[in-house]
Order: sequence, then structure tokens, then C-alpha cells
Amino acid sequence: MSGCRDQESPWVPRLLLELARRTLQPETALDFNLKHLESSHPIAISSPLALQRLNLICSCAGVNTNASTHGEEESIVSVSTTFYPGGHQVEPDTIFSSSDNVVFYVSSQKIRSASPDAFVPYLSATSNEGDPRGYAPIPETSTVLNILLHALYGSSCAHNSPTFEDLSAAVDRMPQYGIVPKIHVGAHAPIHAQLLAHAPLRPIALYALAAKHDLEHLAVKTSSHLLSFPLASIDDEIATSIGPVYLKRLFMLHISRMAALKQIVLQPPQTHAPSQECTSEDQKRLAREWTLATVYLVWNARPDLSTHRIQMCFRPLFEALTCKQCEASANSRIRGVVVSWASVKVSH
Ligand SMILES: [Zn+2]
Repeated sequence: MSGCRDQESPWVPRLLLELARRTLQPETALDFNLKHLESSHPIAISSPLALQRLNLICSCAGVNTNASTHGEEESIVSVSTTFYPGGHQVEPDTIFSSSDNVVFYVSSQKIRSASPDAFVPYLSATSNEGDPRGYAPIPETSTVLNILLHALYGSSCAHNSPTFEDLSAAVDRMPQYGIVPKIHVGAHAPIHAQLLAHAPLRPIALYALAAKHDLEHLAVKTSSHLLSFPLASIDDEIATSIGPVYLKRLFMLHISRMAALKQIVLQPPQTHAPSQECTSEDQKRLAREWTLATVYLVWNARPDLSTHRIQMCFRPLFEALTCKQCEASANSRIRGVVVSWASVKVSH
């Protein structure tokens, strides 16, 4: 390996060019290796100070490096693509490292102002003394730590495309690091919207997460995605995770919607004065057919019943109708049913 001084090395401009190019890419944790540069000579860093400077240069552009010091085993040093020196208005004074060797430059003042109890053991001056690099090791993956820090900084990590599992794990970890989910996953927090984006595909898991941490706004919004969910499929594990209060709310949402549907469709179309074309017997027949249709509808309905399905269910009534008055009355009644059903609460 060829030794070189960090501030004089010809690779620095090329590195910065490469970094500038890469920063145009989506902010993902890049595994950037100096050996991939045009230089055919691997770079040997002469001292820990040089290594630190290299990290600073790379971190400014949000790119990871692979660097080593003389006489030491080569180690990967990755820098967060968001939490690097100069990445935020408030200058960092603490370096967190994740379990997968990504470092995050953070401001203790910023963290304390967001949550006085957050990461307290890791922000104290003595906590980093055991690490020669001055890093405070956080026993979490970089993905989870990144989400936690974004939550404290009040910023969105959507550009990192975290999975539902990542977001869920981060919320579950919050109490462990002195972060209160009710505050930092509140209705206006960016992570709230990110979690809610998973509601259509992961409704019960998201509802369980919201219930577990008493995130009422999130639970209410998620409950509207659970109208088609078969409650009978909730197993013991999910039920335990949701807890009795939110489980009851979910069951009551389903029960109340079904009760409302029965009430809404119960009344048959209005009758009119009997005539030669439409006797009272004809009108009683229409009422019986209406009742049969409603029984079929309610028996097969789920809480997510669509208004289109309601209209389709009553359509056969019109096939045998010859009376214009009865037809108008039935049409009016169906419109009333549709409007009433659409106004029934879809969340608890
Ligand atoms: Zn009639």
C-alpha cells in the first residue's frame, strides 16, 4: 500500500467528484470503497487523525468510505447520508455508531430539546471514553437508528424507503431510548404519515402497533382499513398485542356498522293510494321482495359493504315493476339507503 498525506493526496479531488456524483443518487447507505477510484494504488491512511479527516470529507457528501490505518486491520467506516457534519444547521457534537458500523453525527442539544430523556446515557461525556474513536455505540441497526434520529429531528426518512418492519421496530425501540411514541409519532410527525402509508397493505399489524403504544390518531385512521378484515382471524398473539381497549373498539366498529346497515335498509319503499294498475296487494308484494332483498344483503354484508353492491342487490325489484309510482318510490328509497350508509362512521 502506498502511504500518503491525507490533505495532499491527489485522490481527494477525484473522491469529491465521485461523492458529488453519488449525492445525486437516492440517499441510501452506500458502500463506497476507495479502491474503486481511478487510482490504481490503494490508499493507506497514516494516522487516526487522517482517518477522521477522510471520514469528515466523505461524510460531508454523505458517502461511505472504506478506510484503514497503518498496521490495523482494514475496517469499514460508513457515514450516515443524512446525519453528517454540516448536514443540519446545528453543528454536531456527538457521534453515534450503529451495530452495522454506520456513524451518525448528531447534536446533543438538538436531541435534548426534542426529548430531554432521549439517548441520555449515550450523550453524556463519559459514555464514549471506552471507544478510541469517540463513538457512542448504539445497539441498533443503522436503519432503525436513522428512523429514531429522524423522529427526534422532526424530519422525514421517506427518502430512505424504510420498510414497515423497519418503522415498526423503530417505534417499538423508542421507549428503550427515552423517546415517547405518543409525542414523536403524533398526528403531525413525518413518521406518522410514513406508517399510515402502509395501512392499506398491513392494516392489522399497523393497528396493533398503534394500539400497543396508544397512538390513538394512528389507530383511528388505520381502523378504516380494517372494515374488510375478518375479525375471526385475529389470533392470540395479535389480540395480546392490540390489548383489550383497542380490540374492543375494533369489534365495536364492525358491530355498529352492521347494526346501522340493518336499521337503514329495514324500511320498505313508501306505498301509494291503490289503483286498478297497482293494487294494495301489488304493493305488499313489492314490500315482501324488498324485505327478502334486505335479508340477503345483510346476511352477506361485511362492514366494508359498497354502495354499488347495495344498488345491485335491489336491482331485481324493478324487473317485475310496471307501476311508475312504485318505481319512483323504490328508487327514492334506495337513494336514501345509499346516502345513509355512506354517512355511517368508517373508523372508531
Ligand atoms: Zn305502485
